[in-house]
This record gives sequence, structure tokens and C-alpha cells, in this order.
Amino acid sequence: MGELIVTITTWDKPNYELFDGESQNYRIQEYLINEPGIFCRNGENETFFDQNLSRKDGVRTLFNVRIDDGQFVIGDKDKIEDLWIQSKNEQQIRQNDVIKLGKKVLKVLSISNENNLHLTHYQNVASQIENVEASLFESSNMCRICLGHTCNTSNPLLSLCRCCGSTKYVHYDCLKTWLFGKMQAKQTQYCTEINAKSVRCEICQSFYPSIVYTGTSVLALYNLENLKYHVVLEDIENQTILVLNFKDLTTLTVGRGHESNVKISEITISRTHLAFVVRNEKLYIEDKNSKFGTLIKLQKARRIEKNETLFLQSGRSRIMIKHKAKPKRCALLCNFLE
Ligand SMILES: [Zn+2]
Ligand SMILES: [Zn+2]
Repeated sequence: MGELIVTITTWDKPNYELFDGESQNYRIQEYLINEPGIFCRNGENETFFDQNLSRKDGVRTLFNVRIDDGQFVIGDKDKIEDLWIQSKNEQQIRQNDVIKLGKKVLKVLSISNENNLHLTHYQNVASQIENVEASLFESSNMCRICLGHTCNTSNPLLSLCRCCGSTKYVHYDCLKTWLFGKMQAKQTQYCTEINAKSVRCEICQSFYPSIVYTGTSVLALYNLENLKYHVVLEDIENQTILVLNFKDLTTLTVGRGHESNVKISEITISRTHLAFVVRNEKLYIEDKNSKFGTLIKLQKARRIEKNETLFLQSGRSRIMIKHKAKPKRCALLCNFLE
């Protein structure tokens, strides 16, 4: 099992629960852990390790350490409140990941490429939808907009939200026209910012995807120009959807400055904060030495592998966890005999 060396560096400004990578005012505390417990921080920027796993008032829980099957595990089984992975080098991003730039929190709704069918398959975007149900041929299903039954492969009847009964199905063409009419969008060269309300089902509030894969073809729902490899992000606080369209680029920079491909006006975002990079159809993010960092939310418990080093963050505390394996007795003995 070995032990964990945990170094917690806390920025001493309580303002936003952010960590300023350019500051000098830190408090550093180090721990050697070989049993389960919980790391907390009190109002005086002081962190402590508590072997008693009960949570207390007035202190912030940073994370807990469990031992499962002889291995250290970080985080609760089902829900992790506010623990993030620091994006240091390029890191792959997948659907449903949540990323944080400064104070801005963005959820990855989908990653799509018109040429790559498996990526366009619309899964789990609305929480309970697994697959798109599509009628490609004449059926008894009825479109909730035009009340028609006729359909074909280029204009299928789709079920894209949680609605059921007589409002379950809608024609691709009818939905696209309806979305086009009500979509409120601001378009810049590489980013379209859409009012989230305007791309939701009015009844069940599910998000409509940017692209639908019906099993035989890929159909674009949002009437956006030249939509190629793109990432759909949800800004939950602002109720907006950001569609980042790579067009002919493989790297898109995001930041507050004009020099970034995609501009986000938010005071805690650096001039060039991070880059989205596409390589072999996969999407990566890379922090560009930003002041407040780029983080990826830890959404489930994380096992710590042998000799692994992990860089985490909770509020204004940066956490480095290093696993140190126990030296093997046999190896020591062999060395001694030689
Ligand atoms: Zn219709
Ligand atoms: Zn609906």
C-alpha cells in the first residue's frame, strides 16, 4: 500500500475561492498519510487531516482519502463536491466533462465531427436519453409540429427529448425550422453564443443537440455556417451555449484578449487562457500559463496508482498527492547480499 505525501498550498486571499498562480502569498503544509481520513481547511487558511471521517461545520472539506482493496482512493464513492484536476499538460476532454477557467464553469455537452459518426452519436446530452429514436420510413408516429406522418431518411421523425405521448416525435425539418426561427445567437468567427433557452424543448427543457446521428445519416440541427469539428459547451451560470467551431484549424485559443480565437469576457480569465486542440479526432485542452488556471472536475472517486503524482485543486488550495510505494524487503535483502 505504501504511503501518500500530500502537499497543500493555499492562497491566502479568500475572495473567490480561486488560486492565483502568480501570487507569492501562500501557506504550504505537508502531510505523510498511511490511513484513511479527511483533509479540511479552516477560516485561517490552515489545513488539517482528520482521521475521524465525520464532517464538521465551519471548515471546508477539501477531499477524503479512503483505502479500498489495499489501494488509496481519493473522493467519495458517489458524489465529489468541489475537487478539480489541474490541467498541466495536454489533457483529453470528453462529453460530460466539466472544465473551469478562472471562475467560469463550462460543461462539455458534445464533441462532434461531421466525418466521424461515432463521435456524433448523441448520447446522454439530456440526462435520460441514451439513443436517438428515429423513424426513417412511413410510420404511425406523428410530428408534434405539423401533425404529419410522412417521413424518409433525409427528413426522419425524431424523438430527441424526454417528452412522450403525442409530443414525442418531431420531423427533422420541422424542428430545424422551428429552432432557426427562435434561436438567439451571437456569431463570431470561431464561436457562436446561443441563448440556452432557445435550443431547449419548451415542454421538458431538454437540450437539442447540434447534430443528430439517426443510424444511417448525420443531420445538423443548428443552422450554423460551415459547421465542422465543433464542441458544444454549456455555461450554466449565464444560461448560454457556446458552439466552438474549428473550421480549418486544429487549435483554438480561448481567452479575454483580442489575440485569442474565442473571446470570453470574464475578469478571472487570462488574455490567452487555454487552447482546445484536435488530434486524431480527439479533443484536448492545454492551459496557457493562465493566472487562475484551467481545471477539470473530478466527477468520481479516483484510485491512486503506484508511484503516481496527482495535481488537484479545491477552492484556493492546490493539492499535490504523491504515492510512495514501500520498498520490497526481498529487493533490499538481495542488495545487501550482493
Ligand atoms: Zn413535421
Ligand atoms: Zn421535450
